[in-house]
Amino acid sequence: MGRFQDILLEGLAQDGGLAMPASLPQIGREELLQFSVLAYPELATEIISRFADDINPAVIQRLCLQAYTKQKFGSAQIAPLASLGQEQGAPLAILELSNGPTLAFKDMAMQMLGQLFEYVLTRRGETLNILGATSGDTGSAAEYAMRDKHAVSVFMLSPQGRMSAFQRAQMYSLQEPNIHNLAVEGVFDDCQDMVKAVSADLEFKAKWRIGTVNSINWARIMSQVVYYFKGYLSAVKAYGLHIGDPVSFSVPSGNFGNVFSGFIAKSMGLPIRRLIVATNENDVLDEFFRTGVYRVRSSKETYQTSSPSMDISKASNFERFIFAMTGHDGAGTAALWRELSQSGQFDLKASQPQAWERVKASQMVSGKSTHQSRLQTIRDLASRYQRLIDPHTADGVFVGRQYLEPGVPMICLETALPTKFEETIREALGQPAPRPPGLQQLESLPQRVAQISQDVEALKRFIEQHALR
Ligand SMILES: *Cc1c(COP(=O)(O)O)cnc(C)c1O
Repeated sequence: MGRFQDILLEGLAQDGGLAMPASLPQIGREELLQFSVLAYPELATEIISRFADDINPAVIQRLCLQAYTKQKFGSAQIAPLASLGQEQGAPLAILELSNGPTLAFKDMAMQMLGQLFEYVLTRRGETLNILGATSGDTGSAAEYAMRDKHAVSVFMLSPQGRMSAFQRAQMYSLQEPNIHNLAVEGVFDDCQDMVKAVSADLEFKAKWRIGTVNSINWARIMSQVVYYFKGYLSAVKAYGLHIGDPVSFSVPSGNFGNVFSGFIAKSMGLPIRRLIVATNENDVLDEFFRTGVYRVRSSKETYQTSSPSMDISKASNFERFIFAMTGHDGAGTAALWRELSQSGQFDLKASQPQAWERVKASQMVSGKSTHQSRLQTIRDLASRYQRLIDPHTADGVFVGRQYLEPGVPMICLETALPTKFEETIREALGQPAPRPPGLQQLESLPQRVAQISQDVEALKRFIEQHALR
């Protein structure tokens, strides 16, 4: 297993599996008590320095202070908890994770990743050319995190005409010379295939120092752990609880990165009762937690929904969870994934009953949402609490409400702001959500985007011409 800095830049472990720490730092009650007075950047410093043990903690503190600023997140309060009300004896709250530059929770990790990349690369005298594909939120979060970095450039493929006007404008209006938007005639999977083809050319990849920032990046998972601690400590304060009392989290889920960070927080000793995996109509994960069968979908079976950032056919981070559930059995996990690639599914409950018992004991539970329940939840929160939420957050609230327990706060993670998904908000409420200040004119800004055909060689030539040396 490599050190943290290598994992940060490599993405994958040496055997091709996903990197995981050999053991997790444990946070006891005393430490939690000390954490409860810390501002977000200081809390992030405490948590991240326990993982990134090959970087000086004073450096980590500086990077956290640069990542989580009032200027980037609109307020000195990073990830504030907004109370809604009591339902069935349980406080219901929203953890605001979407106040960053691209109005989605992915900024929380990506801003940190940008700081870590710049620091490690500059020290080593190296550069990195990040290549990725996006259907919306990941690409813009990556670009806004890397736009002012000197050691990093970004090549982001997006499907021509398939993103919302807001999402397009958000990415394409960036004018920095190290940010390259490439519009591909095709769908997201075509973009993803081109990225995979370039990454599979190991010689090209090494020569041009191609890196990734996709959701399996361990440093993203690690950075997301911080806000579970923040949410917990805020709930303790807001509801007069004691450190040690349980709190539940409901998490709109796609690639299983966000909720897996919650699982890591819980495994580190954070008193989490339930972790609720909320899916939309693409219910791969809900099916697993109900039945023990993990069955990935074909692209034909993957629906386009009104919570598009959760439209997945398989959950890329799920492998890490299964690895934990098998008791860190790397060979057993690899065998399950071989079965998955051969038959498209595995049955954990039948083939590894002990691992399935661990799943049950993890208190991870699930549920699914539909277009109608999404709209209803948006309407209900608007009228009951005067609170506008986006379609993904609505999935989390809808499913979270099915798991309320008296006295246990239910914290629903806000994964995007409603203004990003105007059409659905209009359908639910008859009017669009208000824009945050400074973004009213976003769509009329000049856009900078290159068109590229579905041609891997053309993509390579573009990279050769524009990559950092
Ligand atoms: C990425 C994303 C999700 C899904 O998060 P995962 O970590 O992939 O489970 C949910 N909602 C929004 C708005 C997103 O951008």
